[in-house]
Amino acid sequence: MATEEKTFSDFKLNKQLLNAIADMGFTKPSPIQEKAIPRILAGQDLFGIAQTGTGKTAAFVLPILMKIKYAQGNDPRALILAPTRELVIQIDREIKELAKYTDLRHVCVYGGIGPKTQIEEIQKGVDILVGTPGRVMDIYLKGELVFKQLKVMVLDEADRMMDMGFMPQIRKFLEVIPRKRQNLLFSATLPDKVVTLSEEFLEFPERIEVTPQATPAKLVEQKLYYIPNFLTKINLLGELLADEETFSRVIIFTKSKEHANNIFKFLSRKGKGETRVLHANKGQNSRINAIDSFKDGEVRTLVATDVASRGIDVSSVSHVINFDVPVIYEDYVHRIGRTGRANNTGTALTFCNPAEKYHIGKIQKIIRMQIPVEDLPANLEILPTTKEERQKINKEIDHQKRRENPGFKGAFHEKKERKKDSPYLKALNKKKKSGNRKNKRRR
Ligand code: ADP
Ligand code: MG
Repeated sequence: MATEEKTFSDFKLNKQLLNAIADMGFTKPSPIQEKAIPRILAGQDLFGIAQTGTGKTAAFVLPILMKIKYAQGNDPRALILAPTRELVIQIDREIKELAKYTDLRHVCVYGGIGPKTQIEEIQKGVDILVGTPGRVMDIYLKGELVFKQLKVMVLDEADRMMDMGFMPQIRKFLEVIPRKRQNLLFSATLPDKVVTLSEEFLEFPERIEVTPQATPAKLVEQKLYYIPNFLTKINLLGELLADEETFSRVIIFTKSKEHANNIFKFLSRKGKGETRVLHANKGQNSRINAIDSFKDGEVRTLVATDVASRGIDVSSVSHVINFDVPVIYEDYVHRIGRTGRANNTGTALTFCNPAEKYHIGKIQKIIRMQIPVEDLPANLEILPTTKEERQKINKEIDHQKRRENPGFKGAFHEKKERKKDSPYLKALNKKKKSGNRKNKRRR
């Protein structure tokens, strides 16, 4: 088929870029590159939607490098925004590789460290600026950035960039950058509500979908384990990681920094190989070191929150384990997409407790498929659910039922009301309360 025969030299890219592409070992463009590169070169605004790990970065970096060609003036002509520090660093490294035969200047800025060195870099002159929105805006507000020459703006992980947390910052940018510019948005997921938001600033964008949004990477095998409680999840994790050969490079995602820290401690104590933890409360150096050592293969297991779910490209990750089911459903697609990248295969395992089943239902809806259920290993010790966890799970389930059906009062609710008027329940309640106090003291 003609389309499969496309090569990088079919695009109007110059020799410097073609040589860099060859050095990187890319033999043919990926489907999103094939579709996006000619359109970006032609000056169109676009939404590029393609599965995780399919080369979206080069799909926007290559045509930008081609369009701005060589170093010129002092001010950035392209601005690339991404949601996390690790991701902007990674994008900048890819620019460095692809631009190595050009004289283009690129600078990468992010928070967590002082802006001084970053500002000094910018003062030397910059053609492409990559950064997290907060830090780019800080430097702009210090008067150290001029956007008058800006021709292209990219939002990588566009849906994340336009969610509630970032949208106010994006709106500020739109006020200070030239109206006439090219806008490029890329992601593997693009919920409808985000499309509506983007209409605020995109002019007749073309939507290029290699696959419908939220399609999981096809090289990732997915498995779902139903597990009654936290301790049994920990047990299963220990069992699985005992197989060092199969589980060679693993990312474990948790819903909170506390869970991440606890699992990290557990794995370190059990001697499950080099482990690092990555979340928003970790210092900048520790975050970057964690990712780099994981990339180098010195670290076997990375325990992370969703700060690491978007965009991070580590080759040959054997497994992604969702220790907790993500409650922002798009994150499921991104988390499991840390494996099965650039034509490699991988496995994604999800641990689901009774309260998380609801979220699995929602995730299956957005990915438009059922995640195959795996039996628990026969020798796995199933530990009892603690009273505290049982209550938490029941409460969450009630909350979910009420969300689906606002008229639903719920077992939890009913009990409370009955308690009020039954002397027996009143007495029981008293006892429970003093029991709780004891528990609290113990902690
Ligand atoms: P995405 O943003 O779609 O998740 P990335 O841009 O991070 O994917 O690319 C994933 C990996 O694929 C990277 O390691 C990148 O270097 C590699 N890659 C990109 N384009 C190609 C290509 N045409 N051929 C082979 N590998 C590629
Ligand atoms: Mg990406």
